[in-house]
Amino acid sequence: MNLDKLLEYQSADLELKFMQNEIDTHPLNGKLEKARREFDAAKANLEAYEKTAQRILEINEQSGAYYGDGQKEFAELQKALKECGDSDADKRAAIVSKLEELRAKVSKVEKALGENKKRSDDVIKAYQESHDRGKKFRDIYYDAKKRFDAFKSEREPKIAELTKKRDAMRPNLDPGLFSAYKALVDDGKTPAVVESRTVDNGKTYSCKGCGLSLSQQSKGELLERGVCRCDNCRRIIYKK
Ligand SMILES: [Zn+2]
Repeated sequence: MNLDKLLEYQSADLELKFMQNEIDTHPLNGKLEKARREFDAAKANLEAYEKTAQRILEINEQSGAYYGDGQKEFAELQKALKECGDSDADKRAAIVSKLEELRAKVSKVEKALGENKKRSDDVIKAYQESHDRGKKFRDIYYDAKKRFDAFKSEREPKIAELTKKRDAMRPNLDPGLFSAYKALVDDGKTPAVVESRTVDNGKTYSCKGCGLSLSQQSKGELLERGVCRCDNCRRIIYKK
């Protein structure tokens, strides 16, 4: 069986695979992916900080309103205390007790507002940092993308030419042989067509793909037809 046409096809196929692999494993491609991940993470952080900032604002508004009401009530109680004078001791004691209660509440709100201010400063700082980080990785991404696209477009004409050349060979291949070849390639067994190997002047032969020795039957087939299949990996083996 003549394998020349299939070998020629395989050679173009392997070269294409090599070129594609060169693109897929290019350092710029890795850099691009990393920058994209970092940018997405920074963006997710920004969204989370925005939500936190919104919550802080709500708490501030509530506490601020509560604080205002407290101040008003405080002024009213002080006025009542003044008007009450010393004559009604019970009434006076009740007002004083209310005032103390209110003072404790207002001081709690003051403390909460202070803590909220600190939290708000922290969130603003973290937001700014995420924003800067997102911007940095967006710049890295676009720079890497520009250079990677240039690299790819430089390779594209050669890939297109080689693909055309390879595909033009396809109609001339034996259909059965080609489907065996295709199944091996799809299974990751490349090269799918390999030479036989002998280290003892033809006493035994082995597969150059997986390295295992051929059975007596496969060896007989190889010697008789010049082609056989590996008993182990099923690669197509030929003898020069
Ligand atoms: Zn094998």
